[in-house]
Amino acid sequence: MHNNNNELILSAPLSGPVLTLAKVPDPVFASGAMGDGIAIDPLNNTLHAPCAGVVVHVARTGHAVTLRADNGAELLLHLGLDTVDLQGSGFSILVEEGARVSNGDALLRFDQDLVARSCKSLVSLLILTNSQDFQVLPITLKSVKVGEPLLHIVPKAVNGARAEEQGLGDEVRGQIRITHRGGLHARPAALIRQTAQLFTSKSQLHFAEKSASCDSLTGLMGLGIGEQDEVQVSSRGADANAALQALLNALSSAVNDDRHAAAPTPIVQRSRVAEAGVLHGVCAAPGLVGGPLFQLAALQLPEDTGGHMAEAQHQVLNTALEQVRSEIRGTLAHARKQNNLEEEQIFAAHLAFLEDPTLLEAAHQSIDQDSAATHAWSQSIEAQCKVLQTLGNPLLAERANDLRDLKQRVLRVLLGQDWHYDVPAGAIAAAHELTPSDLLQLCEQGVAGLCMAEGGATSHVAILARGKGLPCLVALGSSLLEQPQGQVMVLDADGGRLELIPDSERLEQVAHAQREHLQRRARQQLHAHHPALTLDGLRVEVAANVASSSEAADALKGGADGVGLLRTEFLFVDRQTAPDEQEQRQAYQAVLDAMGDKSVIIRTIDVGGDKQLDYLPLPAEANPVLGLRGIRMAQVRPELLDQQLRGLLQVSPLNRCRILLPMVSEVDELLHIRQRLDALCVELGIALRPELGVMIEVPAAALLAEQLAEHADFLSIGTNDLSQYTLAMDRDHAGLAARVDALHPALLRLIAQTCSGAAKHQRWVGVCGALASDPLATPVLIGLGIRELSVSPPQIGEIKERVRQLDAAQCQRLSTSLLDLGSAAAVRHACHQHWPLS
Ligand code: PEP
Ligand code: MG
Repeated sequence: MHNNNNELILSAPLSGPVLTLAKVPDPVFASGAMGDGIAIDPLNNTLHAPCAGVVVHVARTGHAVTLRADNGAELLLHLGLDTVDLQGSGFSILVEEGARVSNGDALLRFDQDLVARSCKSLVSLLILTNSQDFQVLPITLKSVKVGEPLLHIVPKAVNGARAEEQGLGDEVRGQIRITHRGGLHARPAALIRQTAQLFTSKSQLHFAEKSASCDSLTGLMGLGIGEQDEVQVSSRGADANAALQALLNALSSAVNDDRHAAAPTPIVQRSRVAEAGVLHGVCAAPGLVGGPLFQLAALQLPEDTGGHMAEAQHQVLNTALEQVRSEIRGTLAHARKQNNLEEEQIFAAHLAFLEDPTLLEAAHQSIDQDSAATHAWSQSIEAQCKVLQTLGNPLLAERANDLRDLKQRVLRVLLGQDWHYDVPAGAIAAAHELTPSDLLQLCEQGVAGLCMAEGGATSHVAILARGKGLPCLVALGSSLLEQPQGQVMVLDADGGRLELIPDSERLEQVAHAQREHLQRRARQQLHAHHPALTLDGLRVEVAANVASSSEAADALKGGADGVGLLRTEFLFVDRQTAPDEQEQRQAYQAVLDAMGDKSVIIRTIDVGGDKQLDYLPLPAEANPVLGLRGIRMAQVRPELLDQQLRGLLQVSPLNRCRILLPMVSEVDELLHIRQRLDALCVELGIALRPELGVMIEVPAAALLAEQLAEHADFLSIGTNDLSQYTLAMDRDHAGLAARVDALHPALLRLIAQTCSGAAKHQRWVGVCGALASDPLATPVLIGLGIRELSVSPPQIGEIKERVRQLDAAQCQRLSTSLLDLGSAAAVRHACHQHWPLS
């Protein structure tokens, strides 16, 4: 048939009070996910045709009818809410599919009493299911009688022209059974949408008595189509046949079924629930605490007091959306390059959500109703989440997590600097993954611990958490995000466990352990300012890893013998422009000043890899951690390094400042910086040369330690990267987090080789990676020849105490034997045997 695309007045199909969709007590209809329309609370018992047209669908259970009007508008007439559950009882259908009806014809009759008693509500709906092509304008919102004018249906202009002028042509339809495992969830829905967008025709998917545009991801998922469900596809437009064929193909091919069988959700589930009521993760910062869970995704926005300039809010929302889209496009391109299909599909779905007409329209509509962009976005996402969660399909319900993830991402951009968490002190904060700046905010608010669904134990957030003494678990899996807000839990970071429902006895036990821990800390603190000597008199420097002068001051108070690693990149991140030479000099000087007469090791900037700066665009990398990072930046941006060296050379006294170079892999890199330092000293009229050290964090450097030590003043082992590069395991990879363990015998061999290489030139070797803060590793490191441990500030007293309990000669004997073991687990086991932790 040909649609005339004329405007149309719909008459009331029922008598009774009229309601807007928003007032309908059903999230699916109220959110507009099924389309725009209106509702009536019926006082009569017969549903009439609101216009002339063809009956295109009659629900098997007799509670709903879909009509296609002559202008192409498709109208779902749905009697009551949840009436599908009545399985036809109380309904008698008066028309057949395919029949032509006139305006006012009776379509179905229902038993008012029976239906009202057995279902949620009699409120009935008139929904325009192809709302993308037509607009619905209510004529009245008062009570109506059957046949009175109710709605005005106006075709939407398409690209400035009416749909009719485009010659949309006949509609073609096809039917197919869904074979996607788990039904039409986000990834297959995204594929359908992508396919539909290859054509100019407009296509829809029809299932049960619902229809959705193939352009709308949430609309498609909102159909609640399960595996093996039979659906109809309709396409209309110049290339309708080709579109229909392509869509049927896309619907019949299973997307990545094998992956799906293993991991039924795109957001990888990797928590092992070995014990009931416990989520297992990986310890990123030690500690044991109890407290109420605070899901960061559930943050409330400040109250919206209205009075906005709608235009500005639309603009702000569009800009924020575009920023997030472009970030996701970047991730997507990266995933494609890496052939990471799973990631690609997740982010393609995220991108599709951010382009979803239903979501965007809902948000922009709320802005028109005087909501702030933040609230409008948040509400439109929450409405869609409700839709997904009420469909009774667990896979679709899980997609609500993806939507909430996007909600947060866009809100962060919208709120910019104003973004802040409001977390009760003593809470255990839970999030998908946190950024370093999130962590600093949370810490200020006094959270007791952190847990993340993703993340790795040597990520920079983990480093910060350790620095703050904040227990932190990572890689807990996405079920973390489903745990109830406010539920009191126990975070046993040392044991890698999040106990979801501890009883009062366990909570008391944890409180007791915390008290003991504090007492132990206080005891350790009593001696923290004394040097750490082993039983046989070997001095081990216990320094601190810090990122700022205030952390340095805390470290000094905590008994640090110096700063073993100042990560200067923290000075460069979270800002719009690079700090200039003066600002850098002041920042480094402040750290020196904070440390009294102790020495400070300042590492030159280590960006690139996963640490990118907005104002320092480095070339896109196929393998960022194997690319231009650390000292290699001198190759592409030598002026930046020179600027930093100038800042460093001007601190005083210069003999307390030692410079450390990250990611060195050959001697020439060190010699080049030595030359630059000489040249800059001459330029600045400085006679003294600061000590220059090399980080040993790639296997090549460990193997060349002897050659490097010839030209370096000291070596400092970065066990975080050394693990990553030796084990070929991404240090931030949640799935590998438990295995990126620097006590691996391969690493111990590299550490031993580094120490013996350095000894040939009488150079000292320190460790500034996370292994230095692990008391189980202390005897091994001392035994292999390490003389400086740079640890997270809260652990200074603890590591010093550990050193004092050890005999260096015995450590040396026993640690050599560990090199012959076969795994990190075996080394840990042996360490527990040889040097039990008190
Ligand atoms: C390391 O790699 O161990 C290290 C100390 O450097 P970062 O963690 O900053 O990469
Ligand atoms: Mg490193």
